[in-house]
Amino acid sequence: MMQEQPVHFRRAGEIQPIFGSLPPLALYIHIPWCIRKCPYCDFYSNRLTGELDEDGYIAVLQRDIEQALPLIWGRRIISIFIGGGTPSLFSAAGIDRLLSIVRSLLPVMPDAEISMEANPGTFEIEKFKAYRDTGINRLSIGIQSFNPGHLQALGRIHGREEALTAAKTARQWFDQVNLDLMVGLPGQTLEQFQQDVQTAVACDPTHLSLYQLTIEPNTPFAVHPPVLPDEDVLDSMQQWMEQALPDMGFQHYEVSAWAKPGCQCQHNSNYWLYGDYLGIGAAAHSKITLPDGKIIRRMCVRNPGAYMVGDEAGKTPFEEAFEVSVDDRRFEFMMNALRFVNGFPTRLFEERTGLPLASISEPLQLAESKNLLKVTPATICPTPLGMRFLNDLQEIFLPD
Ligand code: SF4
Repeated sequence: MMQEQPVHFRRAGEIQPIFGSLPPLALYIHIPWCIRKCPYCDFYSNRLTGELDEDGYIAVLQRDIEQALPLIWGRRIISIFIGGGTPSLFSAAGIDRLLSIVRSLLPVMPDAEISMEANPGTFEIEKFKAYRDTGINRLSIGIQSFNPGHLQALGRIHGREEALTAAKTARQWFDQVNLDLMVGLPGQTLEQFQQDVQTAVACDPTHLSLYQLTIEPNTPFAVHPPVLPDEDVLDSMQQWMEQALPDMGFQHYEVSAWAKPGCQCQHNSNYWLYGDYLGIGAAAHSKITLPDGKIIRRMCVRNPGAYMVGDEAGKTPFEEAFEVSVDDRRFEFMMNALRFVNGFPTRLFEERTGLPLASISEPLQLAESKNLLKVTPATICPTPLGMRFLNDLQEIFLPD
């Protein structure tokens, strides 16, 4: 296997990014279909109409990997995440075939975290064991709530009993299970939120993702907005989480993520630490550092039909593809890494952006002077105030 090589390059007249080594590389696979579109969701997914062309889609995913090989040649894959949409619409045999193709084309590390998202429908629950047998070692279930009224308000197609069965069944077959829950649902009280979290914890997950419901543009909720809890109620939910979840064995490690010790999500942590990822599938994003020191981003076309047909040459069609500028890589790194509650190693800024830490000395000092950030030679860490006003802290690092 080819080793990751040190990279040095120069450009006249600008800061010269220098990489000691290329960042870790993950693989993201997007499955862009759902049974029905939830009214709050702005992820790219399509309502499935007609038969799912599993074989056809797997064939184009293989095409994507093969065409990306020159960009990532010899680099090992540290984690795989099959997300969507609803990947659990795929059969276990399809996921098995897909992972076999991935392993035949890419050097996947033996201990790689391999996650898949699943919805809590009966149809999906029956496949959990078979998914485990394909090599998936972490299941992430979109529970959102156990409250029947809130599930209905969210337009979810599963009910409380299916959510409970899915969470418990997942834990029978997987050592690592994440449950997604939403915070601040329409009309939700603190007590109802506490019940959701306590019910989730009783199912023994190893990881909880607790995302606040926000109204996104171009969704049905944006057209007919539900009444959401006010700031005081949201604050009380946040405070309760901070106090109660550590007693239940969960550590808060990222804005929305809580984990039992040693169970942090490796794949998402790689995103937040500005690692690289190859994204395949309709609407999938990639961020790749090249051996010549450039960082590129690209996104496959969103429409699954157009994506599967390919461009005029039958190749992967991209909606956008561009090089990340020096200014943008500073901001992109800080925007992501500041999400970690306990901060990040200071050296990572240089390792992942190829830029000297001195290039952000002014915003670092400004953030420290506002008591939003603590900077030491070893770590850069948001203060409790910085975590509370994370958007303000991140904005300090925006390019002029
Ligand atoms: S199932 Fe998930 S991805 Fe699909 S529409 Fe609902 S929230 Fe979005």
